[in-house]
Amino acid sequence: MTSAPARVTVLSGGIGGARFLVGLLAHLRQVNPDGQGGTLTAVTVIGNTGDDIWVHGVRVCPDLDTVMYTLGDGISRERGWGREGETFSAKDELAAYGVEPTWFGLGDKDLATHLIRTQSLQSGFTLTEVTAALCDRWQPGVTLLPMSNERAETHVVVETEDEGRRAIHFQEWWIRYRASLPAQGFVMVGIDEAKPAPGVLEAIHDTDLVILPPSNPVVSIGAILQVPGIAEAIRTTKAPVVGLSPIVGDAPVRGMADACLTALNIETTATAVALHYGARSNGGLIDAWLVDTQDALSVAVIEESGIRTRAIPLMMTDVDATAAMAAQAIDFATS
Ligand code: GDP
Ligand code: CA
Repeated sequence: MTSAPARVTVLSGGIGGARFLVGLLAHLRQVNPDGQGGTLTAVTVIGNTGDDIWVHGVRVCPDLDTVMYTLGDGISRERGWGREGETFSAKDELAAYGVEPTWFGLGDKDLATHLIRTQSLQSGFTLTEVTAALCDRWQPGVTLLPMSNERAETHVVVETEDEGRRAIHFQEWWIRYRASLPAQGFVMVGIDEAKPAPGVLEAIHDTDLVILPPSNPVVSIGAILQVPGIAEAIRTTKAPVVGLSPIVGDAPVRGMADACLTALNIETTATAVALHYGARSNGGLIDAWLVDTQDALSVAVIEESGIRTRAIPLMMTDVDATAAMAAQAIDFATS
């Protein structure tokens, strides 16, 4: 039987992180139930806000919302982002006025979240406070913290013949261009002035386990790690740090993480991502790493770098499969 840590901290992007969290909570409810359908284990999620963007006058936090809606059972199961049963009338109306951007998927139900967030931010509440207030409705079963309350947005350096070299917002690159414009690098505008949001460093230091779920290593986890102080906290926490590879069989399971890794000259392999994070025993960020059984041959190479590695099934096909991944991550990291 797997032991259940009292406190777990997870650094999360959107879809990959959120799906993992569903399995983690399912596992914890089973091994450490609170008697009321939840778990006694306190799970804190540090969410990526590098994807955040102002669109049509509203502040959108795609990754925080994906985690909140997924754990609150309001996510569109088919799309993996936005609300179930969503309509897009407001988006169509905005397009009919000819205002840009027309490529951003702003759903009508989703818009209510952004309106509340925007109004609250404009009346002086922090993103941490606003996120907590939104979570009152969704009851995600975790404490969801933005990585920072300051604006620090990921931009992508691209070069095209007609417009030359320029930096565009990550969302424009990802959604409008489907990551097809070769990225020369990523810049987080505002990152130097960003501070970890209240509770973030404490959640990394005062925990029993830190998990890097199968989120994008560059623009999700990589963005969180760029907030001054967060990577250092991961390096120095007494808790073990375990990661699960988002790359399986030399390809992202979903999405275009390969385009992000390529921009940093990192191969799209479970090994390269592990070595990019590096062993904590060697100044890096992780103690343990899980790769998919398809990548079992990479275990020895990764272990040579000082990272304990195990190959297990890493496909989040359903909640049971994902809960099993979470159980293995806890077991392996804390054994
Ligand atoms: P985003 O912010 O919505 O892009 O989501 P994340 O950054 O949290 O997660 C994206 C990553 O999740 C992608 O790089 C995928 O390869 C990875 N991913 C999605 N589904 C699975 C899965 O079933 N197994 C694994 N191992 N990775 C997955
Ligand atoms: Ca994201």
